[in-house]
Amino acid sequence: MVQINSSRGKPKSLAVLIALLKRKLIKAFSDNRNVLDECALINTRRIYLISIIAIPLHIISILLFAFAKSEDVTWRHGIIGSHTVLLIFMAGFLLASRKLRKRTTPNMVMFVLQYVLVAVIMTLGIVIVVIDQMVMTSITVFLLICIIVGIILLIRPLASLIIYATSYMVYFVLLTLTTTDPLVLLSNRVNGVIAVGIGFFLSCILWHYNYMNIMQMRRIEAQQKQLEQMAYYDPLTDLPNRRLLEKLIKREIASIRRYGHETAVIILDIDNFKSINDTYGHPVGDNMLRQFADFLIANVRKSDTVARFGGEEFIILMPQTSAEEGCIFAERLRKLIMEKHFTVGSITLQTTCSFGVSSMRDIIDCDSLDDYYFLADRALYMAKQNGKNRVEKACASAGV
Ligand code: GH3
Ligand code: MG
Ligand code: MG
Repeated sequence: MVQINSSRGKPKSLAVLIALLKRKLIKAFSDNRNVLDECALINTRRIYLISIIAIPLHIISILLFAFAKSEDVTWRHGIIGSHTVLLIFMAGFLLASRKLRKRTTPNMVMFVLQYVLVAVIMTLGIVIVVIDQMVMTSITVFLLICIIVGIILLIRPLASLIIYATSYMVYFVLLTLTTTDPLVLLSNRVNGVIAVGIGFFLSCILWHYNYMNIMQMRRIEAQQKQLEQMAYYDPLTDLPNRRLLEKLIKREIASIRRYGHETAVIILDIDNFKSINDTYGHPVGDNMLRQFADFLIANVRKSDTVARFGGEEFIILMPQTSAEEGCIFAERLRKLIMEKHFTVGSITLQTTCSFGVSSMRDIIDCDSLDDYYFLADRALYMAKQNGKNRVEKACASAGV
């Protein structure tokens, strides 16, 4: 019985292992396009740094080869020529990446630039190795460029595989141009496989590490946004809550003190809202509050702020607006609300609002934030006292 189970279990666990490996491979090679934007931004900043470091190194190399005493002029000129071409390209990369590195969203040039850099480094690295074969058998430069590309640039494993495979094929073919000894050729081709293998391996590891980092950062950012939403926005209407409103008011106070403009504060309260809850139930009341908030947003200027002040009370901050202008706006809004039909399922609701309007400049010397609502709140109280569905302007001389 036990034997039968184990013999059946083995192929099953092997199948699971193969499926897991397949999933990992597919994930590594294809399911990672969603981080390409971040990688292009990182790569552009790295291209800028590589160019800064590479330019003086190429100049030093050119000078060393130019003043070196060597019989082999072809080799020397070949190397000097390769470093000069690289120097020109690096200067181009430096100029191109200097402005681009400050961008927060990638553009097409950034995507192209990273692959152009890889193509240039790989091609000229191979050219230098091939020229070097005139006087030596070493392929150190090829190993170095494989490692540099793998470490410095973030390239998707699939793209990386294509880059390293293509580079190796070019290297494999071009070596025959200058390597005459078949044993050296074989040795260099074998060493070349090791070089591209190391480069590809490093490239994959660093890609994976950065991929995890980017995903982690995204999760943290999403959580931060969610926390911010919870802390500063009303969950029912999505309007700013009182906490955010107080922040905005502090900023507005500083602005008024500096520029001396007026800002109107309008507090509005739905009349007899309790009866809507009592007649149709709380969920209908909630739905109406949501529609009411959208209606307010749709009817204010983009520069105005609408916040939920309390249960069925809202506040509108209107920068660059006097109390008189605020009253005209409130009167227009009052009429619009009167005419508005709120539909919840089969129920059609109509309502009215009372408004209290004040200017923040009248209370600019107040210490407590509560005082900034005080005048408008008192005007709202007057509107309720005088029969509701009306606008009252605060009397500044009454003081706070
Ligand atoms: P008034 O004209 O004097 O303002 O009368 P009112 O009925 O609107 O005011 P009152 O202060 O008597 O009642 C406010 C009502 O608003 C009572 C409360 O249940 C309701 N309310 C407050 N917040 C919410 C909410 O988030 N959802 C719902 N459905 N009702 C709410
Ligand atoms: Mg009310
Ligand atoms: Mg109220």
